[in-house]
Amino acid sequence: MTPEQDLRLSDEVRADVWRRLLASIEDHWRRVDDGRVAPVLDPEGLRQSIEALDLGNGLPPADVIGFVVDGLSRHQVHTAHRRYYGLYNPSPSTMGVVADALVAAFNPQLAAWSHSPFAAEVEAYLVKEFGTRFGYPRERADGVFASGGAEANHTAVIASLVERFPEYRRRGFVGSRIRPSMYATSEAHDSLRKAASICGIGFDAVRTVPTTASLRMDADALRDLVASDRRAGLTPFLVVGTAGTTSAGIVDPLEDIAAVADENGLWFHADAAWGGAAVLSAASRPLLKGIERADSITFDAHKWLSVPMGAGIFLTRHPDALGRSFGTNNAYMPRDAEGLDIVDPFSHSIQWSRRFTGLKLFMTLAVAGWHGYARVVDGMFERGRVMRNVLAGRGWDILNETELPISCFAPKTVPPASRATIDALVKAVVASGRAWVSTALLGSGRACIRACVTNFATDAPDIEALADALDEARETAGAPAAT
Ligand SMILES: *Cc1c(COP(=O)(O)O)cnc(C)c1O
Repeated sequence: MTPEQDLRLSDEVRADVWRRLLASIEDHWRRVDDGRVAPVLDPEGLRQSIEALDLGNGLPPADVIGFVVDGLSRHQVHTAHRRYYGLYNPSPSTMGVVADALVAAFNPQLAAWSHSPFAAEVEAYLVKEFGTRFGYPRERADGVFASGGAEANHTAVIASLVERFPEYRRRGFVGSRIRPSMYATSEAHDSLRKAASICGIGFDAVRTVPTTASLRMDADALRDLVASDRRAGLTPFLVVGTAGTTSAGIVDPLEDIAAVADENGLWFHADAAWGGAAVLSAASRPLLKGIERADSITFDAHKWLSVPMGAGIFLTRHPDALGRSFGTNNAYMPRDAEGLDIVDPFSHSIQWSRRFTGLKLFMTLAVAGWHGYARVVDGMFERGRVMRNVLAGRGWDILNETELPISCFAPKTVPPASRATIDALVKAVVASGRAWVSTALLGSGRACIRACVTNFATDAPDIEALADALDEARETAGAPAAT
């Protein structure tokens, strides 16, 4: 064997590998709905089976593919399953899988523009297109692809710190008396607190804005909190409104938040990681009214737009924000594009060497078209309404007020079901393998079952099947014999 044959394999072996790869993917997709949604958990057995492989001399590729496909098939929550009602993890589009394979094979480097001009320009195009769809003027729309919503939110915290505190990039807050504060509700994604701590302002800097009874940010309370924090010596710099909260799909009042941000000189970031897809359909667009006033937006293509994992986007209407936040000078990066009108991705991103994240979105969009994506979005809204009606019809108490396709619900009991009861119901449904749902805590801590229409293939019979599994869990839990 030559080193090349060790890694690239011979022509004949490669032909067999590709055939097996395609057959495995096709077989998985055709059969995934017939099996369990969630695996039986067995950490010890798994570790043993992995450690038992003899990797000293290498194994036949066919054996390795077989081992991995078996492992993934049996030990994974299948987001491609049509009864996965989960945490926004999508069933991947076919063109998204094609794109990820092409990206792996061509391996474009998205650090310096001159290394991968095609990749860089495809991403720049998508950033303009999506920025425009969110309502930014095309000539001002800027942004960058990220690993996901967490990185995009982190980017927003950095960009807003750099914008509001000119010394931040150079000195951080070393030797400064400034105590920066940022604002979000209890329902906002926890990646914001993580970002605050990574940025060195500490997660106590994230101030919790009260919500109304429907769990939306109370904009008047935001105004009051900002004022009282100022009096207490804090320096407010950022407010984050969520457009589709992770637990309950709540959309904060974006226009009211924009107004408070304007009055107070705050950067307004809209976290639309999942819910942002609503802007792609004329029917649901109005739900996100005001998002165009956000200084920046987080949007994840790997949620509602159903591309394989690892595709977030940070968008902003301040074309200079990213360069100011991440621009660097160094001698070793290629200068082949000097003098051309281009942007080096590494100077606009937290990442340096970077994968061509945008291709899976580009290829999926290019085949589905904007109209296809609008149909996907409309269809999932429709199934969300069916789900709400079916659950309500079977006597579940729907606890979240949203038009987005996600339901938070609990048995109709007085007093309300405890966390333990909800966890037991969720566990029973997941253990049955028939559907995947989760526990969520709303506002002050009310426990509920969370089910989101996450898969474009989910249809009315799947929702009936979910309701059947839930009803059985409820009956079993209610029967004294079961305890
Ligand atoms: C999922 C989600 C995130 C985090 O995104 P990742 O892609 O998991 O990094 C942030 N905000 C909201 C509202 C989300 O739903």
